[in-house]
Amino acid sequence: MKIDWNTNLYCLIGKPIDGTYSPIIHNYIYKKQDINSSYMAFNVDEDKFEDAIEGFLAIGLKGFNLTAPYKEKIIPYLDEITEDAKNIGAINTVKNENGKLIGTNTDGDGFIKMFYDNQIDLKDKKLLLIGAGGAARGICFALMNEKLSELTIINRTKDKADKLKEELDSLRKPIKISSLHLDDDFNREDFDILINTTTVGMEPDSNSSPISLEGFNEKLMVCDVVYKPLKTKLLEDAEKRGYDYYNGIPMLVNQAILVQEFWLGRKLDSQASMDMITYMDKYLKEE
Ligand code: NAP
Repeated sequence: MKIDWNTNLYCLIGKPIDGTYSPIIHNYIYKKQDINSSYMAFNVDEDKFEDAIEGFLAIGLKGFNLTAPYKEKIIPYLDEITEDAKNIGAINTVKNENGKLIGTNTDGDGFIKMFYDNQIDLKDKKLLLIGAGGAARGICFALMNEKLSELTIINRTKDKADKLKEELDSLRKPIKISSLHLDDDFNREDFDILINTTTVGMEPDSNSSPISLEGFNEKLMVCDVVYKPLKTKLLEDAEKRGYDYYNGIPMLVNQAILVQEFWLGRKLDSQASMDMITYMDKYLKEE
């Protein structure tokens, strides 16, 4: 890697940041795209958060990412927030435009990009989404910009699914939104796409699945945002039934591509995410 006086530094801040793949993904993008930048991850204590932001402004850092516990805490420091990030209520990316801090959230759009990259049309589709946490919020608000016909949110804590449904309804999109408890009975035959956004199935809980695939129609597509393991129990079940399925890698990679596009103010070539997905898939298999 070439580092000189003109190299731009970007970073992730969180606590803890152990095990994050962000530096691997972003530095790979810089290398492949021949961009003179470098990306680091910093473990920042909560009582040093403000100092960190002031420091970034002082040295003119061009942008940074945030992970837990700072995705909401950054909001009062921002001069501008994109509409989707406002709805989601969490920021994962900040751009520094000559001292003006602009926040956005790329998680949901990163997930949706997977459908576009694979020529999957969401028009008139009926989607079932499990979970109502941070990942679910990002994905649900991003889905509101698409032309699906129905979105059903099911969650272990029904109140959270109800609240999310209410917020989505307030956008007044022509999409029928419902909320259910994880144990409620419903007609499974109807759904085209199932999305797991819960932590169920993530290592070390790899033998669990958030839902049985009994009763869904034979054309169901299954998506899991979990990427550790690469093939969750839910995806193994989907494979056994012959369904198309996607793991969490495309979302992980695409949200980073969108971060770079936000920082650079231009699109990366369409091959960038495919290269990166192949690279991360190999990286995680060998890890
Ligand atoms: P979160 O905000 O803590 O939400 C967790 C969700 O999982 C909630 O809906 C929670 O239900 C549900 N849940 C947890 N344990 C459960 C159980 N035993 N049974 C049923 N439901 C359960 O977490 P998050 O930030 O949304 O992250 C969720 C997953 O997405 C994680 O595995 C994370 O690694 C993954 N993720 C992937 C990407 C990517 O780029 N691929 C990006 C972001 C997140 P309750 O509301 O009832 O607690």
